Amino acid sequence: MKTKFVGAHVSIAGGVENAPLNAEKIGASALAMFTKNQRQWKAKPLAEENIRRFQANLKDVGISPEHCLPHDSYLINLGHPQEEKRQKSLDAFVDEMRRCHALGLGKLNFHPGSHLNEISETECIDNIVQSLNSALAGTEGVKAVIENTAGQGSNIGYRFEHIAAIIQGVDDKSRVGACIDTCHAFAAGYDLRTRDAYEATMEEFERMVGFRYLCGAHLNDAKKGLGSRVDRHHSLGKGEIGLDAFRFIMNDARFDNIPLILETVDPDLWPEEIRLLYSMVG
Ligand SMILES: [Zn+2]
Ligand SMILES: [Zn+2]
Repeated sequence: MKTKFVGAHVSIAGGVENAPLNAEKIGASALAMFTKNQRQWKAKPLAEENIRRFQANLKDVGISPEHCLPHDSYLINLGHPQEEKRQKSLDAFVDEMRRCHALGLGKLNFHPGSHLNEISETECIDNIVQSLNSALAGTEGVKAVIENTAGQGSNIGYRFEHIAAIIQGVDDKSRVGACIDTCHAFAAGYDLRTRDAYEATMEEFERMVGFRYLCGAHLNDAKKGLGSRVDRHHSLGKGEIGLDAFRFIMNDARFDNIPLILETVDPDLWPEEIRLLYSMVG
């Protein structure tokens, strides 16, 4: 039986209902998507017709809602130092959670937040926790999935400790999860290139966060070196991480039955990359 579900972050141009069709075109069995134009704060609510078609298309292409990992807008900063701007982010995040729920999807992937050099990392994490507790209290049925970051600029989430601290502060642990992005982990200094390095990184994740919280992964090679703190994705095997790390993941049962999402730089290569990943199994 199939245990690995690989896809990519596909386009919703023309409507959310196109995401499953775009996933099918590249041979995906999982998908990530935005639920609205991610460059704008506001979007009109999803129409019943778009929701109906999204769900019908998802069913047609044989992708389970569990293998969908919607991503929130990059504008959102739940840890924003300024109350008013944090509230704006919170409102947008709640709206995105409701959009996911309306689509029948149970996860929303987000980057924790940034301190913008105005507050400490700890204060930023406290803000994120408060924002999340408020968002979860005001919504239902959707897990907030925290993605590790490269630690570029003032972004929080580059240490597994940050993710652990956020989860620790969330009241309803059944509504929070984590997503490992390989490029971000590597850029943040977690090596994945050899069997030993990979195991050490995953053990660290298990110790700090716990695989029971893992809801998805982003499979990206990295343009910059280990510990560079630069968030630049590359196509699999073309960057600094190399292919072995992805072979380890494809043969690691801790990554079973969760969406494994490519956010690599060349969408034309996605069909090939998906085939390559499946060919690594066993
Ligand atoms: Zn990512
Ligand atoms: Zn990235």
